[in-house]
Amino acid sequence: MVMMVMMKDDKFLTGLLSRCVEQQMIEIISSGVLSPGEGCSPKVCIVGSGPAGFYTAQQLIKARQDVEVDIYERLPVPFGLVRFGVAPDHPEVKNVINTFTQTARQSRCSFYGNVDVGTDVSVEELRQAYHAVVLSYGAEGNRTMGVPGEDLAGVHAAKDFVGWYNGLPSCRQLRPDLSSETAVILGQGNVALDVARVLLSPLDILKMTDITQPALEALAESQVRRVLIVGRRGPVQVACTVKEVREMVNLPNARPEMVGADFEGVAEALKDLPRPRKRLTELMLKTALEVPGEKEQQRRSEASHAWGFRFFRSPVEILADPERSRTAGIRLAVNRLEGSGEGARAVLTGEVEDVTCGLVISSIGYKSLPIDPSLPFDSRKAIVLNNMGRVQRAAGLYCSGWLKTGPTGVIATTMNNSFDTARSLVEDMDLGTLDVSVVKPGSQSVAALLEKRGVKPVTFSDWEKIDRVELSRGEAVGKPREKLLTVEEMLQVARS
Ligand code: FAD
Ligand code: NAP
Repeated sequence: MVMMVMMKDDKFLTGLLSRCVEQQMIEIISSGVLSPGEGCSPKVCIVGSGPAGFYTAQQLIKARQDVEVDIYERLPVPFGLVRFGVAPDHPEVKNVINTFTQTARQSRCSFYGNVDVGTDVSVEELRQAYHAVVLSYGAEGNRTMGVPGEDLAGVHAAKDFVGWYNGLPSCRQLRPDLSSETAVILGQGNVALDVARVLLSPLDILKMTDITQPALEALAESQVRRVLIVGRRGPVQVACTVKEVREMVNLPNARPEMVGADFEGVAEALKDLPRPRKRLTELMLKTALEVPGEKEQQRRSEASHAWGFRFFRSPVEILADPERSRTAGIRLAVNRLEGSGEGARAVLTGEVEDVTCGLVISSIGYKSLPIDPSLPFDSRKAIVLNNMGRVQRAAGLYCSGWLKTGPTGVIATTMNNSFDTARSLVEDMDLGTLDVSVVKPGSQSVAALLEKRGVKPVTFSDWEKIDRVELSRGEAVGKPREKLLTVEEMLQVARS
């Protein structure tokens, strides 16, 4: 792997690069691989093959009959968080893969997996090779709590825990210790609820999903019986949605354990809430305060597992065991709310409370990272600075998905913001603000650079080989898919 070092505004280096790409272009044309006329179609490359990458490609191909789109992806497998984020027990969400596959199979779309942009090829080199570059590489980092003890064994970012049960190669070694009775999840978004559900779901349910075999084996041995989902604000401010809370309420063999006092004044606030938030709050209120019918009471009393929201609590410190080798608990600050509704702020009361637990999962949000020092990156918001998807001060550079908006929104939200970026790009081509009259070499010059650097991309049909192997391994054990867990194994199958 070749590490690219680009200095911001380094005109000399940019000029040199430009001449290199031009030279390659001349070589490609004179070698007869590319005739001069062939280079005329607008060439766009997309970095990242998650929903943002594929929806941007889909819209570009639909809007212009001449555009050619190449998608570069770091991993040998496509689909980003649809493969590595979406919970294994939500298979219906993964149906979007069918639409992405249709896009990838179009003659004007190519997939190049196993290419890490920023390492194997720089953004600047892509900009030289293509008329436009769309950055859609998502949010691969995570927010940190910034409290003492965060690095102790037994504390994990939800991003890594999710990556572990979903087979993300970089999380294979996580091996979380599930030997304690109580787990605390910080944050009350849908990722927190995914994690809670996976920790508490009966094995019979999980083993019919595409969860990885090592995760299934670890969960089979898990001693976790109680999961607390902790939020710094109140019931009216939770970030999760009603469907996910209902799944928790209906979880077999698990009873809800709420603190009634947390819901003081919530019933009175219902009338002013917008409809989706109202339904969600009603469900939480009912779960916390209503005495259930006989059958439900029976079910709850027999349940061996429990879960509950804990409100008005912020992490202060992760407590260590006497050997200081791993987590033994968490100290939480007790908050009160200032203001009302979704914008209410958590304010410390000065009181603290300790909870004994052996597993802490921090689910307070993902975070995009700058992959190239030349990008105008807003470190506070962790997004690429953009206007309607046009990266600021960088002609021909665009962004879509979580990198554009920050790490919130479901796939449909990502689809809409990616369509918007594609529309901005097409508008720029149509109006001539983006010059597509000059011939650009596209993937041919990038292929030459990658070859020189010893990087061998994985094509979409290579991925389809991996797909077939995973599906047949899954079939053999009664699962929809058994994922390959290492990049090496993926490459081996792709090249078989
Ligand atoms: P991503 O999906 O992250 O795609 C980014 C892609 O870029 C990845 O393939 C990555 O490998 C690639 N990449 C990164 N760096 C580089 C690089 N340097 N070079 C080349 N490629 C690179 N939404 C729903 O609607 N339903 C759900 O059930 C749901 N569940 C979710 C569960 C979790 C745990 C999370 C975190 C999100 C979930 N979402 C769900 C939200 C949904 O996943 C996002 O809206 C969507 O994936 C964002 O798309 P994206 O393309 O911006 O990012
Ligand atoms: P999220 O929805 O933004 O939730 C983040 C949670 O972390 C919030 O409860 C937030 O509380 C809390 N938080 C943030 N910073 C904190 C801090 N410093 N200290 C304490 N708490 C903090 O993020 P997410 O759960 O990672 O989900 C990301 C997106 O993916 C969301 O849009 C989600 O809906 C989507 N997703 C969807 C599904 C699904 O459809 N099933 C599944 C998973 C994810 P505050 O509100 O107080 O900031």
